[in-house]
Amino acid sequence: MAHHPDKVSPEDREAAEAKFKAASQAYEILHDDEKREMYDSHGMAAFDGSRGPGGMGGGPDLEELFSTMFGMGGMGGMPGMGGAGRGPRKPRKSPSEQQKYEVTLEDLYKGKNVKFQSSKQILCPSCKGTGGREKTKPIKCSTCKGQGMRQVLRQVGPGMLTQEAVVCSTCGGTGEVFNPKDKCKKCKGNRTVESKTQLDIYIPRGAKEGDTIVLEGEADHVLGAQEPGDLHFHLQQLPHPTFERAGADLSAELKITLAEALTGFHRVLVKHLDGRGIELQHPKQEGQILRPGQVLRIPGEGMPHKKSDTKGDLYLTVDIDFPPDGFLQDSNALEQLRNLLPPPPPPLEVEEVDEVDYESNVSMEGFGGRDAAGGWEDDDDDEAGGPQAQCPQQ
Ligand SMILES: [Zn+2]
Ligand SMILES: [Zn+2]
Repeated sequence: MAHHPDKVSPEDREAAEAKFKAASQAYEILHDDEKREMYDSHGMAAFDGSRGPGGMGGGPDLEELFSTMFGMGGMGGMPGMGGAGRGPRKPRKSPSEQQKYEVTLEDLYKGKNVKFQSSKQILCPSCKGTGGREKTKPIKCSTCKGQGMRQVLRQVGPGMLTQEAVVCSTCGGTGEVFNPKDKCKKCKGNRTVESKTQLDIYIPRGAKEGDTIVLEGEADHVLGAQEPGDLHFHLQQLPHPTFERAGADLSAELKITLAEALTGFHRVLVKHLDGRGIELQHPKQEGQILRPGQVLRIPGEGMPHKKSDTKGDLYLTVDIDFPPDGFLQDSNALEQLRNLLPPPPPPLEVEEVDEVDYESNVSMEGFGGRDAAGGWEDDDDDEAGGPQAQCPQQ
């Protein structure tokens, strides 16, 4: 109907007329058994008489029209069509099923086998998916009048409708159903039954967020399809308390004490994803100290590269744990410590000094957020000699 010449503006009419004609012809072929058979065995060549000057030549391609009308990859996808002489018939698969699967960074580091129970719809093994008892004959489906497909209208845009063929849900696309007494006892004529299976998925070492593991044929077998669908697991990495990951590299904080930053250490500082302790010695050269934010890189201690024995790197950012308030009560010891450490720089050269009070432990959230409360006030009094600075209000 979207291409009906009465529904479009005059300037689009000619193109619409051609499309509408093509669509009408498509339906004619589909609904006329004889023509349909000709199309099946010879394709559009069977209708070449209509091509040529003044005919279909230059008009919309019918084959293309078929595939857009049915939203499928060409005629091979139509049940009952695409038969002999048109190349091998492609099996139609049931749709894939998508699932999230959450994994820890440890599992991604080491690799993991997971087993779990799953249930899916399979073709009924008792009637082999026919839905009927042995030696019974189905009757024509009344819902689709034996066609296996039904035409439905679908909205594709504002005021735009398109007619679409969908598999008949009553007969599942076969065009046939069984009388109640002839129905298969196991599936009650539904043709599919639920089946519980144990699934095995293997998460390879080095797999990452967004990777997909596909289990072929482990999703539901939907009616009208010749094969069950695939089950897709999309890996989602859970946050880790110690490590961050970027590609094959890992990063973590290197928490050391102030004394260690100044005088060095030789101990296990990180527990790795496989449980190993990572031992570091510092300094490597006498006299080196560590400063907050300094980064150490350990080659080969990152995540494994997939299908390889190599690994990425581990980046460690120095975080210094300062001693708590009052850790040195003894004023002599404090004095000694002061004398051990470098002295402050020489005093700044200034002309005037104000000793001020302050708050400690303030967050930077308040920085720049006080404009309205204590800014400059407008002074409209020109006699005072224009704008004047005033003290902020208390
Ligand atoms: Zn039907
Ligand atoms: Zn059955």
